[in-house]
Amino acid sequence: MINKITTKEEKLIRKGICPDCKKKGFLAGPEGGGSQNFRCANPECGSKFNDMDLFGIERINSPSPSHQPNLMRIVRDYFRKIHAK
Ligand SMILES: [Zn+2]
Repeated sequence: MINKITTKEEKLIRKGICPDCKKKGFLAGPEGGGSQNFRCANPECGSKFNDMDLFGIERINSPSPSHQPNLMRIVRDYFRKIHAK
């Protein structure tokens, strides 16, 4: 089950901020087919999203297959501008 997110939510995510709990940081999950799954790093939140690059970001409601998150990988991208120095 995948739902579109709002533009406002996407802007927050692009800043590395979870639109649900408003905390910073995401954990990267499986990627493939030009998309990258990631979820909120806050264990009490854990909201999941799918970054489809050109097609934007969608929210994932169903549990994703078990995986080992690639720690901070996607966050590195999102935070590159903010923490450029
Ligand atoms: Zn969150």
